[in-house]
Amino acid sequence: MSNLFRDTILEVNIDNLEYNIKEIKKLIGEDVAIAAVIKANGYGHGGAFLAPIIIKSGADMIAVATLTEALELRKNNFTDDILIMGYTPDNVLEHTVKHDIIQTIFSLNQALLLDKVAYNYNKQAKIHIKYDTGFNRLGFRDCTCSIDEIEQIYNLKHISPEGIFSHFALKNKSTDSIQYNKFVNAINELKKRGIIFKYKHICDSIAAVDYPEYRLNMIRPGAIIYGLKSYENDSLKLKQVMTFKTKISHIKLVSKGEGVSYGYRWIAKKDSIIGTLPFGYADGYPRNMKDKGYVTIHNQKAPIIGVICMDQCMVDLTHVPNVKIGDEVIIYGDGKNNTMSIQEASELAETNKNEIVARITRRTPRVYIKSNNIIKIVDYLLD
Ligand SMILES: *Cc1c(COP(=O)(O)O)cnc(C)c1O
Repeated sequence: MSNLFRDTILEVNIDNLEYNIKEIKKLIGEDVAIAAVIKANGYGHGGAFLAPIIIKSGADMIAVATLTEALELRKNNFTDDILIMGYTPDNVLEHTVKHDIIQTIFSLNQALLLDKVAYNYNKQAKIHIKYDTGFNRLGFRDCTCSIDEIEQIYNLKHISPEGIFSHFALKNKSTDSIQYNKFVNAINELKKRGIIFKYKHICDSIAAVDYPEYRLNMIRPGAIIYGLKSYENDSLKLKQVMTFKTKISHIKLVSKGEGVSYGYRWIAKKDSIIGTLPFGYADGYPRNMKDKGYVTIHNQKAPIIGVICMDQCMVDLTHVPNVKIGDEVIIYGDGKNNTMSIQEASELAETNKNEIVARITRRTPRVYIKSNNIIKIVDYLLD
């Protein structure tokens, strides 16, 4: 196992991840499959290492956003099913066939091209059809003309249509039910023509928990796998998977009246003990946490002071007893022991939880913990 070359790390608790997937499975039951979403480097947690663990814990396939994310998994010898939920440009579509990756299709032209490519490889290209029920992002528009095109796609010789899916806008219950009904009507129209799909899915994390009646036979959870909850009802207990940590790199006494960091935007009101921490906005920490952010040292909150730099920031340690260089610092914790939860970070940074975790960059090594032991360190810059 490689050593840690940096104090700023992202700890990923595998026990919590496995717990979350088991709880999700318990909630949805045996008849609903899981396409576990690990786009954006597994919401920052490191998708490549987690994919096989997530499958072993009970997910049926992995879903990503881009071809490159799918290829990263294949490069790491991941052999189970991968669904690309986004658009793959025509000029690289071939790679989905070459590497047996399931492509989302939302136009007849794209399907015709894929059929040709699959013919050349002497393969069947597995696809999921994307049906737009109102989100207006990707998908066939909701009309009979689309049903006709999907029928044509279904009959292509080298295309294997495995699934059909849609996506909720989650505006409110009433608009979501309109979307759901459009989706089910389309599925029924297709069924009348003898067109059936193994997998039908429309629920992301929030919908999967809040709308049990809309789960069909597959869900696409992302956030809840990592213990991030946004849903309203209380039927699912989760454990946060990530802890973002670092260590104090420098401590100094700053006299009353001295400024700290760019523009001296923080001035010491009294003699203060100031710590320097080796993480900044290039690690994905929101720069707009200035004057709001804090970290946790010895179970005490230490406010971030002054402008957050690209690679470092400063904290006020005046009130924290016995601090020394090398002491552990929690940047994001689970909210206990005065730590900042992902939820709180998202509120302070005025964004959502998924953005907070997805923006943690690859400069931070991922440290995987199982039964309190480090089982793997991934340093993207060195591996
Ligand atoms: C990202 C994504 C999901 C997962 O979303 P969560 O809110 O994290 O569960 C599901 N479906 C699609 C199409 C997505 O893009």
